[in-house]
Amino acid sequence: MSTDSFVTSDGGYGMMMYKETIKGERMRPVTIPKVAMKIFPIGLGSNAIGGHNIYPNIDESTSKDIVREFIKQGGNFIDTAYFYGLGRSEELIGEVVKELDCRKDVVIATKASFIVDNGEIRHDNSIPFLERSIQEALSRLQTSYIDIFFVHFPDEATPKDEVVAYLHSLKNQGIIRAIGVSNFSLEQLKQANKNNQVDVVQDLYHLLDRKIEGTYEKYMLDHEIGFIPYSPLASGLLTGKYDVDTVLPERLKKRPLFMPDRYKRNLQKIEILKQIAYQKGITVSQVVLAWYLTNPFITALIPGAKKVEQVMTNLKTADVVLTKQEIDVIDQTFR
Ligand code: NAP
Repeated sequence: MSTDSFVTSDGGYGMMMYKETIKGERMRPVTIPKVAMKIFPIGLGSNAIGGHNIYPNIDESTSKDIVREFIKQGGNFIDTAYFYGLGRSEELIGEVVKELDCRKDVVIATKASFIVDNGEIRHDNSIPFLERSIQEALSRLQTSYIDIFFVHFPDEATPKDEVVAYLHSLKNQGIIRAIGVSNFSLEQLKQANKNNQVDVVQDLYHLLDRKIEGTYEKYMLDHEIGFIPYSPLASGLLTGKYDVDTVLPERLKKRPLFMPDRYKRNLQKIEILKQIAYQKGITVSQVVLAWYLTNPFITALIPGAKKVEQVMTNLKTADVVLTKQEIDVIDQTFR
């Protein structure tokens, strides 16, 4: 797998960059191995873009500013899904891409499987459902192809190899460029990848939840499957902005990572990130994102953002060089 990291003369890892951005910074693309698709390693997660069903007070004008600035600053990889705003995220991204006339310069990943019915959620992977979902996504995104199509969540009924065989036929027609699965167990991934046709996996992975490491990681590396971790900043916890006195928003209070005892332990670990960030004059989020990019099984990152400044900060991770010692300390602290 091609990564953007290199070993520096002091034994650290850094990132070479070669895409000129508006600010004159340079960012080096990474490759999704089986499809030789180039993307920039810091993408944009867009569940807050138009995601009124996930974040009720989301402002659509800010959403579009986030996408616009991300692209203007040299970002090219955007992750969305039908579920984010029940199509609204795809629509807003489609509008900005059209406005900037940059479809060929961006890599858009989208997903389907969710059916929201009277407040009930279920998943469908059947071929008629996916066929309809992909047609509708193309229309919302105002495009004739989807760069990466992910089955968002597995259903219980559809054989996973049949789903992937169908997606492979769409790939042959140029309707999608890469096949992805998300939230699949290792067994489901193996079934889906029976004919070695899965190109990318997206699953939960961050410093405070490293379950993917080990057998799942090995399977992806052995089969040259790209990995895009989701929620890399642990929904904001790994940005260092929370402490014991923070009044947590309701949406975070019930999450396992924010449960009182675990939250306190997590905050203690995050102290080491704060120290490294302070010494380097960078942000905690940049330390965290840079750490992921030193790991060969991670292809690219899709941190979410609700403010333009967050996108700017996260994109600047491309300039960060961590030393070998810093990488090891973070690894040990979060084991
Ligand atoms: P995340 O990337 O871990 O956290 C994003 C949140 O952290 C932002 O919305 C923002 O929230 C805060 N933040 C981001 N950058 C920051 C910065 N520089 N400084 C301070 N705060 C910052 O979590 P996520 O958005 O849930 O996940 C990322 C993406 O993964 C999603 O957008 C989506 O595309 C994808 N995803 C996929 C699945 C799936 O099932 N496949 C599931 C979940 C997510 P606040 O301002 O509110 O703190």
